[in-house]
Parts: sequence; structure tokens; C-alpha cells
Amino acid sequence: MSDPTVDPTLRSFLEIPDGSPFPIQNLPYGVFRRTATEPPRVGVAIGDEVLDCAALEARRLFDGPNLAGKRIFDRPSLNPLMALGRDAWREARARISRLLSRDEPLLRDDATLRGAALIPRAEVELLLPVEIGDYTDFYSSREHATNVGTMFRGPDNALMPNWLHVPVAYHGRSSSVVLSGVDVRRPMGQTKRDDEPGPRFGPSRRLDIELEMGFFVGPGNRLGEPIPVGEAEKAIFGMVLVNDWSARDIQKWEYVPLGPFLAKNFATSISPWVVTLDALEPFRCAGPEQDPEPLPYLRSEGERTFDIELEVSLQTEKMAKPQRIIRSNFRHLYWNMAQQLAHHSITGCNMRPGDLLASGTISGPSKESRGSLLELSWAGKEPIELPGGETRTFLENGDRITMTGWCRKGGRAIGFGEVTTRILPELG
Ligand code: CA
Repeated sequence: MSDPTVDPTLRSFLEIPDGSPFPIQNLPYGVFRRTATEPPRVGVAIGDEVLDCAALEARRLFDGPNLAGKRIFDRPSLNPLMALGRDAWREARARISRLLSRDEPLLRDDATLRGAALIPRAEVELLLPVEIGDYTDFYSSREHATNVGTMFRGPDNALMPNWLHVPVAYHGRSSSVVLSGVDVRRPMGQTKRDDEPGPRFGPSRRLDIELEMGFFVGPGNRLGEPIPVGEAEKAIFGMVLVNDWSARDIQKWEYVPLGPFLAKNFATSISPWVVTLDALEPFRCAGPEQDPEPLPYLRSEGERTFDIELEVSLQTEKMAKPQRIIRSNFRHLYWNMAQQLAHHSITGCNMRPGDLLASGTISGPSKESRGSLLELSWAGKEPIELPGGETRTFLENGDRITMTGWCRKGGRAIGFGEVTTRILPELG
């Protein structure tokens, strides 16, 4: 049964600018307010506007069995909506799609309601859309793991023996997940160069990006009751772009034997609009072949990932415009989201609405698809050349990094918007 909300012929009564990432087929959720004194609430991006879902809720326009009488959108985060589960998400999406469509007069012909419910996107402040309980970061790109392993351990030991069997991850830090637009300060820490006898303390000199995507868990599971791989997609609410900032010099000194700690905990940036899996459905595709076959609890059949084109651009303080430095795709990832969620919960670990699970750096087979500066500059040995004659191995103060994501297929296109961040100098 095809979902009418993703029908490419569907049109909104609103004017959607050419090239907008937010046509009526997308309908991503965010949290916004117009003024600092106004309570934050849930909205949907449509073209250059935001649809205020709380205003629709106040008029009892969500009247289906899962949403009627509930206060879900007049809230400062998406967590209450995420907790309701997929039937409610689909009910909300169908209602919003209908209200915005060209053929539905209810909102189209009611100037008062339009005035209350549609706000120019340029006039709102976007806030972190989710109250993130726990943040986990995977390491699911075979190409990234191979590149990093080659640099750190040599080509013969690049991929650790567990990697093709276990979706490797670490538990991250949710308090420092920040929205696009929030500047990131260069972290201080302990580092040790190979040619020095001991560590020193100072600003990280190898500040790096990681091109990732993340998904938010919906209803979750009870402690002790794993989410089966075949059920896992139903528990995923939607996805955002993620830049998982990394201090490579701090990481290199601290990561043995337990893995990343301070090298990763100072900031993780996400895009403000959460694109639902229902919107991504037309862009479903197969991931890489998995050989050896995963253990039964991780086996997933069919098209279990999505074709999402990802780009990263860099603009230094001297450059007049940004320069693209990376072009990759979410589909390159070896382990898919269902496998990540099934693996994460197989011990009985309880996942909660709003938990963020990120993919790990998304590198692909080509040099242009390497998802970090560590890989692009091959640990600093091959500087990246920029227009105007500047070069970069790692980030300098004032540099701006912007990541974008697009799904395109047969004339259809929806986007994730962007996550853009500027680097500030260290304190002091
Ligand atoms: Ca990462």
C-alpha cells in the first residue's frame, strides 16, 4: 500500500521555493519559539515556513484515535510524540499532510487559522528538538574503520577481528549535544607527541569533524527486554545530521585501553529538523553485502538503509564562500540502524524516547567520500588545498563547517537542511 504523504504529485497550497529541502513530502519536526519569552513548541518545516502544530492541537485538529484529547505538540520537545509510537506518528503525519495540501480548504481558506499556524521560518528561533537522555555513537563505516585502523596500526591490522561481527560503539555524552549554529570552542586537554617524553596540557591542535547521521529512538523497550532486529525500525522516530567533533591528539593519548572520553565529549552538533522514517521510505535501498553473515540476532533482510547524499563544506575566515571538501552517502554504512538498535538492546539495555544513536563517521570507497579531516589529510600528512592558497590538515579558529543531506530519486527530493558550526579559540 503506497503512502499518500510521499506521493511525488502531492502539492501544498503554500508556495514552496525551488530547491527547498522541505516540500510537502518531507514534513520534518522541530521545536521553535518566536520570542524568548514564548514557550517552545513543536512545529513542522514546510518550504520557508513553520507550521505550528501546537496551534492546530489547540483547535482540536488532531482528532484521530491516537492523538485526540492529548497534549503532544504544545511541549518543549518531541519526546512525548516520540513515546507514542508509529501509529500515532503516522496519524499525525497524515493529518499535517492533508492540512497543507492544495486540495484541502480547512487551513488554505481560513486566514485567521493560517495567521496563527504558519510562521516564516526566518522569524523563529529553533531549539534542540529532543530532550536527549542517552547518546551512543557507533563506528559502522567499514571504510572509516579501515582508514583509521591503517593509520594507527598499519594495513595488516586495520580492521579489528570483531569488527565484521559486532556493531562497535561507545556510550557518549548527551549534555554537550548542541544545535546547528552554536559555536564550538576548541577544547583543552592532555596530549603527547611521539617525539616527546611525556604529556603536555594545552589546546587541541588536531580538532576534527566526523560526518555522521543519527536517529532518535521512539517508544524504546523495558529493561531486560531486547528490541528484535525485525522490530527495530518501528522503534525509530527519525534522523538528523550529526557532526561528532573530535580532538584527535587528545584521543590518541587517552583512548587506550577504554576508548574515547574527553576527545569526544566537548560537543556534538545536530541539525534542527528531524526527518521521519516515513518521509525517507521512497529512498530505501540495500546496504553493503555483509560477509561473514552476522549472528542470527543481527540478521536483517531486504532494503534496510536509505540513500542519503551527504556533503561537507569548509569556509575559513579568509574565504569568500564555502568549499565542498567531502561527498559521501549514508548507504555506505556496513551496519544498518535496525542492527545497531537490536545490538544495543540485546543485553536488555533499555532504550528511552529521545535517545540519540549516531552512525559513526560515514566514509565511502573514494577519497572524496572520507568523512573526517583525519582521513582526508591522512593524519596530517596530505594537507587539503583550498581556494585562495590556504591549506588545512585540521581545523583552525574561525573555520566554519557545514554539513548537508539530501535524498533524490526520479525527480523527488527532500533534504535535512544543514548543521553549520564555527570554531572558536580556546578560553584564556
Ligand atoms: Ca564519532
